[in-house]
Amino acid sequence: MGKTIALANQKGGVGKTTTAVNLGACLASMGKKVLLVDIDPQGNATSGIGIEKAEVDYCIYDVLVDDLEASKAIKPTIVEKLHIIPATIQLAGAEIELVPTISREVRLKRALEDVKENYDYIIIDCPPSLGLLTLNSLTASDAVLIPVQCEYYALEGLSQLLNTVRLVQKHLNQDLRIEGVLLTMLDARTNLGIQVIEEVKKYFQDKVYRTVIPRNVRLSEAPSHGEPIITYDPKSRGAEVYLDLAKEVLTNG
Ligand code: ADP
Ligand code: MG
Repeated sequence: MGKTIALANQKGGVGKTTTAVNLGACLASMGKKVLLVDIDPQGNATSGIGIEKAEVDYCIYDVLVDDLEASKAIKPTIVEKLHIIPATIQLAGAEIELVPTISREVRLKRALEDVKENYDYIIIDCPPSLGLLTLNSLTASDAVLIPVQCEYYALEGLSQLLNTVRLVQKHLNQDLRIEGVLLTMLDARTNLGIQVIEEVKKYFQDKVYRTVIPRNVRLSEAPSHGEPIITYDPKSRGAEVYLDLAKEVLTNG
């Protein structure tokens, strides 16, 4: 039975999508069957893994709002063993369209139940908000992985996210746990990054991954080529660190 991990942080630009795509691709390269679920209307994970959004027939919107079977929206990617349920801009309406529907917070969980047994990992790339799409993701997940950018105010807003996690645990999904906190975009040339690491470790202690993702220009280039880092530039530092992260995720079970 697969493990479902949501990549969540209501701040944008912290590395959720980069981590979803590259962690997914690395786990697949290690032989795991992985389903990436793009639940951000921006669809960055979708295009980042080489899917042309204009050519997508069914996407996560159809699953959430129109009760399409999840299996009908799954597409293969350029990476063997890595599949995706894509997102298109159509999803932007879902946040509002879902409000009056029955069991609006558990729709993703129910939809994924049918496909979960086909995968070792399901990785959900959440939008930068704590609305219904993120609630659906947290309700459908066994664990949440929180990317935190190594910058001033790194911890700002995290109490809101943790509150949301607690509310989901209390009312919607008591099995949800914090998988880990991932430090991203470290600029090793500055002291600031080191200070932020210490601050985040003080707060989250052993929940912080040993792997820290540095700033790496190859990681920022790869999405525009529609490739994960391990195929775009397998020898880069970015590829190395995401493989390290995948190993950590594997050892966590
Ligand atoms: P989010 O999904 O949280 O909004 P992204 O993963 O899209 O964040 O990252 C925001 C931007 O930063 C993107 O342009 C991405 O390519 C870039 N980026 C992410 N991680 C790194 C990194 N380690 N080094 C350099 N650029 C990065
Ligand atoms: Mg994103």
